Amino acid sequence: MALIKCLECGKDVSSKAHFCPSCGNPIKINRAEEREDASALIAEKAVDASVLLAEKTVDASTLLAEKTQESAELLAETTKEAAVELSKSKEISVKWMRWMTIVLVVVGFIQIVIATVALFISLQLR
Ligand SMILES: [Zn+2]
Repeated sequence: MALIKCLECGKDVSSKAHFCPSCGNPIKINRAEEREDASALIAEKAVDASVLLAEKTVDASTLLAEKTQESAELLAETTKEAAVELSKSKEISVKWMRWMTIVLVVVGFIQIVIATVALFISLQLR
């Protein structure tokens, strides 16, 4: 609320007053000031809304970035765990392959021995 000079008597009058309290002159300037006040208020509200929107956008962006990072970390962890599991199972299967090879070689050797012995026996039986 500002004080303005009355155009008739020159006394200080509130800009919100409709009439001068001293001479009763209608204060016309206050209409314009009220409009200015209203414009300023609208501008202020618009700025407030913009700031709020910007804040909310930043919040949402930050949250999204955090969530994205969390999921990326989770994915990396899961992938790492899966890789570790896979390498473990590979180690196990490599061990199994070695044992199977040894067993097959031994079995093959035994078969050769048996075949040789059978051949000798059959030759001696003639
Ligand atoms: Zn006046």
